[in-house]
Amino acid sequence: MIPFLDLNRLNDRYRDILLSATSRVALSGWYILGQEGQSFEQAFAQYVGTRHCIGVGNGLEALTLTLKAWNFAPGSEVLVASNAYIASILAITQAGLTPVLVEPDPHTYNLDPTRLATAITARTCAVLPVHLYGRCCDMGPINAVAAQHDLLVLEDAAQAHGATYGNRRAGNLGHAAGFSFYPTKNLGALGDAGAITTDDDDLAERLRYWRNYGSGKKYVNDLPGHNSRLDEIQAAVLREKLPHLDADNTRRRTLARYYLDHLNHPNLTLPPADNPEADCWHLFVVRHPNRDAFRAYLLEQGIQTDVHYPIAPHQQRAYASLAHLPLPVAEQLHREVISLPLNPTLTDEEAAYIVRTINQSPVHP
Ligand SMILES: *Cc1c(COP(=O)(O)O)cnc(C)c1O
Repeated sequence: MIPFLDLNRLNDRYRDILLSATSRVALSGWYILGQEGQSFEQAFAQYVGTRHCIGVGNGLEALTLTLKAWNFAPGSEVLVASNAYIASILAITQAGLTPVLVEPDPHTYNLDPTRLATAITARTCAVLPVHLYGRCCDMGPINAVAAQHDLLVLEDAAQAHGATYGNRRAGNLGHAAGFSFYPTKNLGALGDAGAITTDDDDLAERLRYWRNYGSGKKYVNDLPGHNSRLDEIQAAVLREKLPHLDADNTRRRTLARYYLDHLNHPNLTLPPADNPEADCWHLFVVRHPNRDAFRAYLLEQGIQTDVHYPIAPHQQRAYASLAHLPLPVAEQLHREVISLPLNPTLTDEEAAYIVRTINQSPVHP
């Protein structure tokens, strides 16, 4: 069986640095908000190209805290793609704001800049472009629309570590960005972890309060903050793994190019191939009109796949208030998408077997 993703195989390559990082912290006597966190924040800010990085508990908190720190009027509207991951929507509602779902470009799966302007109202305060599957949103036009309407731009870069747009990296393309270091992400911790990157000095300062009970000085609370700190063990692990991120992404790009060049089946829609060097290929997502049967066929042939994601946000029970919206593009994507195995430990032989098996698929549309 070719696993969709084998975290054991992935992290075994980093065995020595993982063990030295975790034992270093275990025996240090200092576990929360210390030198490991600072060292990672500095290194990651430098990697992304921003002035600041603020470590937090996870990716959802990175987005939620930033929206809270911006202090918008309650109920203000945030524009987000209708096929976004649920955490992007949860961040908006947890910050007391209203998600406005904008249909994505069906070819890139990302926020469609041409549909943005028509969704803007007097209550719109921000845009939340999600760089889905590791491909950056078309930030030039998105930032232009945002600037024209005085909107703040919060990138969801949780799937985009090392992805580029022009000569900048994801996380440095808006006013602020939220990252997740969940273990399956391109840069993954050994538990939950997240961060915000930004060039805004004032926002960075406030976020350091927000993540720590709203406090800058012990037992003095200026804001009704969260407890959402990047712990020292995760920070040390991430600091050790960060120098290897580009090599991992290079392997992902090689595999993605191989898939793009060799997958060939009339029932299959491939992801856009216009700039495979810019994407960080967190996921390689294809579409099949008979997705579930296609998936069952691949499993029978020993290939495990996944679906990101099976249910559109507005069709989740948690968001019954959005259920009435007609969002045909999102609904079709959620019916048809399937993620093929693509990760730094996938071998050339496995990739070749996956291509052969898919190109011979007998599954009807
Ligand atoms: C993983 C992810 C998140 C949430 O990150 P967590 O660390 O799991 O909270 C948010 N947005 C996107 C696009 C993600 O992939």
